[in-house]
Amino acid sequence: MSHTISFSSQTYIKDNPIIIYGASVYGELAYISLRQMGFVPDFYCDKSKKRKEYLGTKVISPEELDCFKESNIIIASADFFGEIKKELEEKGCSNLFDMTEMLKLELPKEQLSNRAREMYDNKQNYINIVQNQSEDRLVFNRIQYVVSERCSLKCKDCSHLMQYYQKPEDIDLYGYKPAFDRLLDQVDCIAELRILGGEPFMNKTMGQVIHWYHDSNKIQNISVYTNGTIIPCEEILMSLQKEKVKVHISNYKINEDKIKKLIKVFDEYQVRHFLRDYDSWQDAGGVEFRNYSLEQKKEVFSSCFERNGFTFLKGRLYRCPREAHAMNLKAMPDVREDYVDFMYENGTSKEWKQQLKNLQNCSWLEGCNYCGGPDNHVQSIPAARQISQPIEYKPLY
Ligand code: SF4
Repeated sequence: MSHTISFSSQTYIKDNPIIIYGASVYGELAYISLRQMGFVPDFYCDKSKKRKEYLGTKVISPEELDCFKESNIIIASADFFGEIKKELEEKGCSNLFDMTEMLKLELPKEQLSNRAREMYDNKQNYINIVQNQSEDRLVFNRIQYVVSERCSLKCKDCSHLMQYYQKPEDIDLYGYKPAFDRLLDQVDCIAELRILGGEPFMNKTMGQVIHWYHDSNKIQNISVYTNGTIIPCEEILMSLQKEKVKVHISNYKINEDKIKKLIKVFDEYQVRHFLRDYDSWQDAGGVEFRNYSLEQKKEVFSSCFERNGFTFLKGRLYRCPREAHAMNLKAMPDVREDYVDFMYENGTSKEWKQQLKNLQNCSWLEGCNYCGGPDNHVQSIPAARQISQPIEYKPLY
């Protein structure tokens, strides 16, 4: 397996078209970088059939790439970098490029969307993924570490299914530490360990996760995702000051006074933070069984932006947060093939690694049968609509 080349005016194949694979946030960064270098991309390529044009550039499907195998193809995705590269290699595309040099350019931040600005600030995640590309290595762009089922907001459409918890609890972090240690023993790199809930600051011991893993050389960055409603205690604030840590504040425009207070505290404590406004979410629907065919499950999975949201919940690593919580809620059957169970103490390293590879390579989940499939390219719903009571559902067992 060959490595990609970093795209630059010295490395690209002159007179061949330039195609950006990935019509989303990294695709936006690639577009702006190319323009700054004096190039205009000929096409985008994207799996979603719903997007025909992006930033004024035509979007072609992966099948149409068959006519452009000699093109300069820039892989504009961190989450799906390995998957896209494998697909292109199997097609016989030979001029594959990454964005590492492009991301070193000084981009005009005011021209970037909110999300692209956030990715640009976190560009090291992409660079880490590229630098670790090898089939022998177990690399994760992101692992989401759930520290609480409890949330301070009551969002009707939470894609992680918090609205279904009748008696949500904080996760016993000490109890599941050996399981996460076993997971970490198997992997070579986690570009981002993302700590989330529910609302992570509901769990007063969440700072322990940072304390335990901050010095791991396998974890490149730690981020904490908060809805901005809670000012954490002194002990947590001290843990957030660590060098690798950054707090992402989601602003749903329903608690802006609290967010202002939180930012003031973060500024006082010199906690690195990033504020992102959300007006809309993608609808993933309820937890009812949808009886999809195998082809439909694959289709839903392949268009879903959560499909690489590897999630550690109660000692197990799942492929996506939605399925993790659907199983935790018993809203779907316990499907053994869909997660790696690190609570099982007697596994060998060889077995764990094989199971992790299988999880990385799967092309659908049984959980997709209980999900509407959040897709960036379909119509969105207003973010964070509040309800007063949890939504009722019938646990399967
Ligand atoms: S269950 Fe499937 S479709 Fe739903 S969020 Fe997870 S990967 Fe996406």
